[in-house]
Amino acid sequence: MAIPGPSVLPASVMRTMQRDSVNIYEGEIVGETTLLVERLKRIAGTTHYLCMYASNGHGAWEAAIVNTLSAGDEVLCIVNGRFGHAWSELASGLGLKINIIDGGKRRAINPQVVGDALRRTPTTKAVLLTHTDTSTSVVNDVAKVRAAMNASGSEALLIVDCIASFGCDRFMMDKWGVDVMIAASQKGLMTPPGIGITFFNDKARKARRNAKLVTPYWDWNIRDSSAGYYQMFFGTAPTHTLYALFEATRLIEREGIENVWERHRLIAQSVHKAVEHWSQGGTWSLNAEIPCERSAAVTTILCSGSDMRQLRNMCEKELGLTLGIGIGMGATTGPSMEESAFRIGHMGHVNPPMILGTLGAVETSLHRLGIPFKSGGVAAAAEVLARF
Ligand SMILES: *Cc1c(COP(=O)(O)O)cnc(C)c1O
Repeated sequence: MAIPGPSVLPASVMRTMQRDSVNIYEGEIVGETTLLVERLKRIAGTTHYLCMYASNGHGAWEAAIVNTLSAGDEVLCIVNGRFGHAWSELASGLGLKINIIDGGKRRAINPQVVGDALRRTPTTKAVLLTHTDTSTSVVNDVAKVRAAMNASGSEALLIVDCIASFGCDRFMMDKWGVDVMIAASQKGLMTPPGIGITFFNDKARKARRNAKLVTPYWDWNIRDSSAGYYQMFFGTAPTHTLYALFEATRLIEREGIENVWERHRLIAQSVHKAVEHWSQGGTWSLNAEIPCERSAAVTTILCSGSDMRQLRNMCEKELGLTLGIGIGMGATTGPSMEESAFRIGHMGHVNPPMILGTLGAVETSLHRLGIPFKSGGVAAAAEVLARF
């Protein structure tokens, strides 16, 4: 499995879900959840607050907005791919006034552009930024966007979608001045889908007081109150997904978040190197043009003139490797683009033998299909991984 979520589950995470139902009012799960909250905050680099939902990432997207904003508020959506667009559509559906800065599909946003937009529209209440857009694998420089916001004199909240990047790409919530951060269980967190997370600071909590969109189910105030464990999930907790998340976050802390980021960075670089090697005939490219704007969690790969659906099909049916489909690549580059793209997810539970196996299976399929490429990408990737 090499799709960008749901990601591969470590064996110990799967084992911990093999249990009977548990009491959701008292007992072990209550204390374990308290420890989980502290671990998640450490991984996010925040000392502030978090609320969890029995939801996917879309739920956490909505939670972040409804807890901080009201219908008619102006928000600036920074878009570098399909997920940024989808989030802006959700915001629009909630009645917010959307201004979009589209950074395109291949480059991170220029922070200067954000600053200029905020100067033009000083009434902007929030900036919605996707850290890593999973469709394009472009990663934005969050700290620089924050600096540009500050320089513009804007009071807007910075709300960042880290669903793809959390536990993969370096991220420091408090240090980088992020007010709200959104994550979900099924990507870098190595847990099945089903838990959405919003992290928020005091400024966001203050915004909650005036937020008119909030409904009881999403309300931070109810979940974050001391009303008891049952209210933390506003009903029955997703018990077995929680057990998975207890274990997965323990694995992350045991390895150390700095080491986790470094492992992802090297593995991503090995993928980049393999693609650059394949490309010596000229038809292959990494979608994210600039090395420092490439995510450590996922890589979008383009191959002009060949159908990557065939490649994915061969990998899946004949070799047992599931690759990510190309999404959101078609709109401006012609319908053939979608077919010319695929993605390798390398998020969470991934190590050198797994990525070498992935790249090896891709090369095997390329040989079988007669798609033009320069053989030897796996060896090039191995050289990068030798730096481990
Ligand atoms: C996966 C993903 C989402 C959507 O998450 P769901 O759990 O599918 O709702 C949103 N944003 C980004 C950046 C993602 O990678």
